[in-house]
Amino acid sequence: MKPFAGNFTQQEPLDDTVIAAATEVLKSGRLHRYNSEPGELSQVSRLEQAYAAYQGARYCLACASGGYAMAIALRAAGLVQGEAVLTNAFTLAPVPGAITAAGGKPLLVEITEALVIDLEDLERKAKTSGARFLLLSNMRGHLVDMERLAAIVQSYDLILIEDCAHTMGAAWNGCKSGSFGLAGCFSTQTYKHLNSGEGGLLTSDDPDFMARAIILSGSYMLYERHGAAPSADVFERIRLETPNMSGRMDNLRAAILLPQLDRLEDSIERWNERYRAVERALAGADGVELRRRPQAERYVGSSIQFRLPGITPALARAFVAANRALGVELKWFGAAEPMAFTSNHHSWRYVDAQELPQTDRILSGLFDMRLPLTFSVEDCRHIGAIIAHCAAELGTEV
Ligand SMILES: *Cc1c(COP(=O)(O)O)cnc(C)c1O
Repeated sequence: MKPFAGNFTQQEPLDDTVIAAATEVLKSGRLHRYNSEPGELSQVSRLEQAYAAYQGARYCLACASGGYAMAIALRAAGLVQGEAVLTNAFTLAPVPGAITAAGGKPLLVEITEALVIDLEDLERKAKTSGARFLLLSNMRGHLVDMERLAAIVQSYDLILIEDCAHTMGAAWNGCKSGSFGLAGCFSTQTYKHLNSGEGGLLTSDDPDFMARAIILSGSYMLYERHGAAPSADVFERIRLETPNMSGRMDNLRAAILLPQLDRLEDSIERWNERYRAVERALAGADGVELRRRPQAERYVGSSIQFRLPGITPALARAFVAANRALGVELKWFGAAEPMAFTSNHHSWRYVDAQELPQTDRILSGLFDMRLPLTFSVEDCRHIGAIIAHCAAELGTEV
């Protein structure tokens, strides 16, 4: 098998339109979002308008990170100290981290083999805990049946906040991910769907919620300079009761995001071509189980996951090593020790320990791989063939 030589963490370079936009902001010297000329809409406010339009939301706030967006969303939604927040156990560390930062306690919900929240466990835990909040993490871009989820949210009167770090641009039955509850939280960190190094976007249709989020983000009394915010009278009611927890976005980052947003739909098509190339190469590979993507789901294939159910930890490590020897970087969610960006609930020790046997069983056989757009479709076929080859080799070892 010919090894693959590509780099799994190499994103596409930012092009000349992005560089020109950045240069213009740098030359102006006005990098702070409120450092604008009278009547001028800053780059950050423009980004908020453009993203609200893309998302189909009334309001948008740009901020420091996706994790920050989630934490202030919980606060703006009225979370009180020590309150439980339901969240699916398959996610990344910024999610339990944001709940903790907001003063909440993560109450972890099982996942299914489709890698989405287990709606039966959600219903059970909503009922027994009386929790008011659900922070749904659309982890690795897998959407649960959002209509069934919405019915549960309604019957238990849950406040739904969506973590859309991996579902920017995704939809369920034509409705954009992030539009099903009170708020959607997005990330523009380098490995997500738009790249400003770090950054976050929070969307909502609720004026009181958004006014509180804007003040929390550190707007001082300059909120009238926002481009996609509720009107000033909404702020009048809350402006002196809401603390400033500085986490603003700056004009440089907003300026480099705007041209990327124009091309997001095109990037999604390119990600999905690559995803399908790996998917096809893995279909029928020994022991490999891929999620069949539901018809209703419009996904963004910026990464791919597959399972080798029943694999032992020793063989999972050997499988990762065999792939690595051929240049393919897989992450394994079953590892006892957190590695790089990948961890599981056992290593979030600030969270009360919880029994999640179903999630543990699924994560013990779950592998994950990024698909940066610097890979060609041919690269993706090659990568898929390597994984299939390693899975077949594994078969002979069992
Ligand atoms: C990246 C990520 C976030 C947000 O991350 P930031 O680095 O804070 O922007 C949230 N949830 C998941 C699942 C993520 O992968």
